Amino acid sequence: MKSLWKKTVEEILEEKIELKNEEIADVCIIGGGITGISTAYYLSKAGKKVIILERDGLANKTTGNTTAKITSQHGLFYRYLLVDNGKEFTKKYYLANQQAIKNIENIIKEENIKCNYKKQDAYIFTQDVRELEKIRQEVKIVHAIGGEAEYVEKIEPNLEGVQGAIKFPKQAQFNPRKYVKGLVSKILENGGEIYQNSKVHSIKKSVDDYKVYTDKGYVIAKFVVIATNYPVINIPGFYFLKMYQETSYAIAVETKEKLFQGMYINSEQPKISLRTAKDGRKEVLIVSGQDHRVGAKISLKNAYKNLEKIAKSMYPDAKVLYKWSTQDCISLDKIPYIGEFSKMMKNVYVATGFKKWGMTTSNVAANIITDKILGRKNKFEDVFTSTRLEAIKNRWEFGEMLKETTNSLIINKFKIPEERLRDVKEGEGKIIEYDDEKIGVYKDKEGKLYKIKPVCTHLGCELSWNDLEKTWDCPCHGSRFDYKGRQIYSPAIKDLKIEINE
Ligand SMILES: Cc1cc2nc3c(=O)[nH]c(=O)nc-3n(C[C@H](O)[C@H](O)[C@H](O)COP(=O)(O)OP(=O)(O)OC[C@H]3O[C@@H](n4cnc5c(N)ncnc54)[C@H](O)[C@@H]3O)c2cc1C
Repeated sequence: MKSLWKKTVEEILEEKIELKNEEIADVCIIGGGITGISTAYYLSKAGKKVIILERDGLANKTTGNTTAKITSQHGLFYRYLLVDNGKEFTKKYYLANQQAIKNIENIIKEENIKCNYKKQDAYIFTQDVRELEKIRQEVKIVHAIGGEAEYVEKIEPNLEGVQGAIKFPKQAQFNPRKYVKGLVSKILENGGEIYQNSKVHSIKKSVDDYKVYTDKGYVIAKFVVIATNYPVINIPGFYFLKMYQETSYAIAVETKEKLFQGMYINSEQPKISLRTAKDGRKEVLIVSGQDHRVGAKISLKNAYKNLEKIAKSMYPDAKVLYKWSTQDCISLDKIPYIGEFSKMMKNVYVATGFKKWGMTTSNVAANIITDKILGRKNKFEDVFTSTRLEAIKNRWEFGEMLKETTNSLIINKFKIPEERLRDVKEGEGKIIEYDDEKIGVYKDKEGKLYKIKPVCTHLGCELSWNDLEKTWDCPCHGSRFDYKGRQIYSPAIKDLKIEINE
């Protein structure tokens, strides 16, 4: 299933060059999503020699499957920030993201990037009267920190029972892969190098520099930026104790009716997120939501159908053109981690935990990390300090994480109870328990069996079967593997061991 963005831009860089030897750079950036690419853009513009190592293709993962609203409206977040962190902190978070909207617009103009950029107002609405007070409060708080927001009773989309909404004016939307493609051509013009199909497995210190290793080569660089969405290095850093991952689904539909203006998301669960987009000359509607924690032991089969129902409630003739899903990291205190990766790894930087608002936050991160590497002070850096431990003070989330981790830390022997395999239907995957042992089995349409040990190669948590995407998902840290055992989402690096029976 391909996203609208992947369909409109098939490849960002046609020629996929792999890292095969030793290469030298000022900065080695691991990860070619919007974060890595934006950071490389600023650094290469400032005269630094950058090398990007991407395990797959550029902007194929979260960035290629996002909904790409460019906004400082990150849910009803400002009240939450104010209560825990005070007014100055909350104001800085808002200003950092507002600045990012301007930065993105400036880059698009300056570099003449054709990416369907469009100014839009952003709204958080509710269909639940009990949420209205929170929305009114949020408007007051945004005013108190000097921001722009307005309470509105009605919104344009024809959704039933809308009670009210908060509007952030002059936000924006774009096609993220067209934007990344534009940045990539500038990075190359500035002398940057990009290696795809180049999965990093380790970073080693060597005197004043680091060596960043893939299976076939390495890069020597003074500075390293980990922009892999979920950091691929466990220790030091310990981000696996400070974050979890959530998946959401999206569809793009066409209709003969005229679509609304603006970008929308509700404040309650289940999530409904709406925006319009260009598919060639056509204007289409994107509906996304159905969020859940990666690896949740729930049936996901109706995720796309539920989104289609929402589209049809507004536009009865809606026809689904694209379906896709992806995941993002959420820190325990909900604030992204941007800056030093660990006090024990000088000159290594990280940007993660964007909680599904990474279009602006990736730009904030790119600026903070660029400033750090160039030895400049960034006025927003202290909001996002990545070495903070306060995240762990969110005891409820931390307790849930530990519960999930300890529940899932099991080590099983790899043994297959043959007679039990007949229970598995074609197209189905499940964990079979037999004689105190567990085995993950998927049977394809031809009856071929794919057997894995359902233990994540990251930190040994038990995997669960995802019946919609046909993947093995880790509930602890969000790594995912396809039914053939190939690792598709970090932080795991290694594939699962697999046995295939015809
Ligand atoms: C459904 C959904 C909707 C969203 N909608 C919005 C929205 O409307 N607005 C908004 O602001 N944000 C949104 N977000 C969030 C936003 O899309 C992300 O925060 C952002 O795309 C993250 O970009 P990234 O570059 O950090 O990660 P990615 O795009 O995932 O890039 C990381 C890259 O690192 C590579 N990598 C991983 N491991 C290795 C390795 N070992 N070696 C080399 N490379 C590696 C990956 O292949 C990948 O290409 C949404 C997120 C989701 C899940």
